[in-house]
Amino acid sequence: MSQARNPAVSETGDPLLLTPGPLTTSKAVKQAMVHDWGSRDATFIAINRAVMEELPKIIHGEADFVTVPMQGSGTFAVEAMLTTFVPRGSKILVLINGAYGQRAKRILEIAGREPVIHETAEDTPPDLTEVEKLLVADPAIGHVFAVHCETTSGIRNPIEAIAGLVKRHGRRLLIDSMSAFGALPLDSRETYFDAVAASSNKCIQGVPGLGFVIARKSALAETKGNATTLVLDLHDQHAVFERTGQYRFTPPIHVIVAFHQALQEFWAEGGVSGRGERYSDNARILIEGMEELGFRTLLPAARQAPIIITFHMPQDKNFVFQRFYDALKDSGYVIYPGKLTVADSFRIGCIGALDAQNMRSFVATVSDVLAQMGVGLKSAA
Ligand SMILES: *Cc1c(COP(=O)(O)O)cnc(C)c1O
Repeated sequence: MSQARNPAVSETGDPLLLTPGPLTTSKAVKQAMVHDWGSRDATFIAINRAVMEELPKIIHGEADFVTVPMQGSGTFAVEAMLTTFVPRGSKILVLINGAYGQRAKRILEIAGREPVIHETAEDTPPDLTEVEKLLVADPAIGHVFAVHCETTSGIRNPIEAIAGLVKRHGRRLLIDSMSAFGALPLDSRETYFDAVAASSNKCIQGVPGLGFVIARKSALAETKGNATTLVLDLHDQHAVFERTGQYRFTPPIHVIVAFHQALQEFWAEGGVSGRGERYSDNARILIEGMEELGFRTLLPAARQAPIIITFHMPQDKNFVFQRFYDALKDSGYVIYPGKLTVADSFRIGCIGALDAQNMRSFVATVSDVLAQMGVGLKSAA
């Protein structure tokens, strides 16, 4: 029955973030930030260079790709990618099945590009037959934009198949892999794309403040003059790096030094396979435990990425989401509201410095909270 448990805490005594980012980070990542550096400090410049050189290795793209960092959250990197690679007035096919696809469309509209939309429901991957028809019908579409893991639902979009189709039709692929990068494989030797955007504070487990685009060198070289803003111009940002090794504008130094530490921990864990495995274990324990309690996932297993899990809101009249959320918060777990249009739901993240024991304790706490609220999902299910 319900019994008091000590609240769960991270290594630094904070509640655990079961969210899509920012995430719970290690103590060493946070400790890396307790210094001051000038932006022209040689130590900082060397650390930054190491980070930029390591990132393409994650997609096995050391030879053909270069990292262009972008100060700001992940969306700054996505906007920089879209507005640097897609010339003004050009058409780009945007595959939408959630909020991040919608956001890309909005970026393109504001920036005077011409998005062509293929939209499916939030629990449904793009229809590749339809995508192919759109590409065949409109030769003016030069680019395709896809989201790797659409964090709105947690769906894993078939990025390899999308890339194959785009390449067969001679178009260029731009990927938002924000919530998947470092945990779901993306191998540039097998999956062809021009650029992928991600950020410091998701599966690499750094702190927020740095976006980056890993760009195919030959494609980036063709983008001079495309940008329609000064700050988000990846071509210029890269050119200045090549010349000076420095950022054009103040870099988030502490974020980058913490990101460097986070990358060391990422490699120590076994890179994409090690991290992906831990997240998969987290997701499996969470889903099995929650299903045991009577919750249902939005997505079938085959479409579910081990990043963030969407659960249907229970129908029990005693289940009040705000109370559920607050009780979990008091117990040391921060979960995430849903933002789906297809179903009333909430989300629980599996990423960050969380392990199997954290997930088991979380499920046990959910069970306690349900008992306190007088919710009996299991008998009702
Ligand atoms: C987190 C995320 C982003 C970026 O969001 P920010 O709040 O700007 O960091 C973009 N795309 C996807 C799929 C994401 O999960």
